[in-house]
Amino acid sequence: MRWPRIAAVVLLMTVSMQTSLAQGKPAAKSVKAVRLGKLWDGKGKIWTNAIVVIDANKIRAITTDASAIPAGAETIDLSKYTGLPGLIDVHTHMTFYTDETPGVPLLKQMANPFPAVEVFLARKGAMRTLEAGVTTVRDLGADQYMDIAMRDLINRGEMIGPRMFVCGYGLYITNTPYKPGLNPPAGGIADGVPEVLRAVRQQIAAGADVIKMYGSTGTDDDITGFETYTFEEMKAAVDTAHQFGKKIAIHSYGPDGARDAVRAGADSIEHATDMDDATIHEMAKRGTFYVPTIDHNRYYVDNGDKIGYAPGYKERLQAFIPRNLETARKAYKAGVKFAMGSDAIYTMFGENTRELGWFVKAGMTPEQALRTATTNAAELLGKEKELGAVAPGYLADLVAVEGDPLADINVVLNNVKWVMKDGAVVVDRRGSPAR
Ligand SMILES: [Zn+2]
Repeated sequence: MRWPRIAAVVLLMTVSMQTSLAQGKPAAKSVKAVRLGKLWDGKGKIWTNAIVVIDANKIRAITTDASAIPAGAETIDLSKYTGLPGLIDVHTHMTFYTDETPGVPLLKQMANPFPAVEVFLARKGAMRTLEAGVTTVRDLGADQYMDIAMRDLINRGEMIGPRMFVCGYGLYITNTPYKPGLNPPAGGIADGVPEVLRAVRQQIAAGADVIKMYGSTGTDDDITGFETYTFEEMKAAVDTAHQFGKKIAIHSYGPDGARDAVRAGADSIEHATDMDDATIHEMAKRGTFYVPTIDHNRYYVDNGDKIGYAPGYKERLQAFIPRNLETARKAYKAGVKFAMGSDAIYTMFGENTRELGWFVKAGMTPEQALRTATTNAAELLGKEKELGAVAPGYLADLVAVEGDPLADINVVLNNVKWVMKDGAVVVDRRGSPAR
């Protein structure tokens, strides 16, 4: 995750769209029939020689009977591959995309004050996310409502990317050092119950789909997990979010924030290392989702120099990862529901599903791991009747992989060959080597 940075001088910008990027729009009018050698439908069934019939942006039927293909349907032959529902990543930061500009630390790249520039660049991370088979994300923290802009551009077909459910600003406590002459940070700062109420309402008014609260310190190469908000403040955020029909994710690197977030009624707990047995038990009892984001520290270890972290980060982060994994192992054993969240940021897009490898290490079978990125994630979004499964009436999001993902989860990490979102083919890498 990343704390919202101190807002620089914000220039009022008017973006006028003179031309329509019509090619980005899913031309999902026609009927398609997708043939798959195997299909894991997310509903507990494995089909052999499945035919998925798609009408516009929705799945109409699944059959093995070729005579049931409607006349005039466009047939797509993926019989060499295994089909899966479009995957869901419940923790991203799509608008914090950076590129490989030589010699410019990624943290420095984030200093660009123009939201339009950042949203435009973020289309590359969006494409890589799709290439990983992820067709839906829950994006947990952005500046200047860039996430809302990006979500809307994607929904309008002006940008190609995963369907986004966004939070606007995450709520966080006062955390900016004194700097004379600098504007105070905008957005998510809220101290005390009244300010928390205002900040939650502000995100909802701005168009947020979900609320995010930073309940502890810890971000980037900082893995301190000191609780920031009080139980009362968390409870106020949770109750207000729920009052408006929104779910709330609470970030906590450490156990104290997680304990209070669970008791306050958060829908998901992000990161949360070293949780005690009582908190884990309470999560299992309440059905609170755990999004451990184990792999993002692996990404930071691999890329910290490029990102621009100060020396010493590697040892610190490497010591944190096994604790994170161990907490996940305990929680899974205790019956806590998991959802896959990568915490993808900077150049991590496209590595979203590596988290599933950690889930298998934590004791899940590949199929159980796949559920965290399909049915479970859809439930956390409140979209379990539209997303996370290949079934009649669901949105036509479909991924084809080469190999057997139920035998080896790495097939999902490395061998995505073809992706459909909303009935439109968005990735076709058949004939390309493994990623
Ligand atoms: Zn995050």
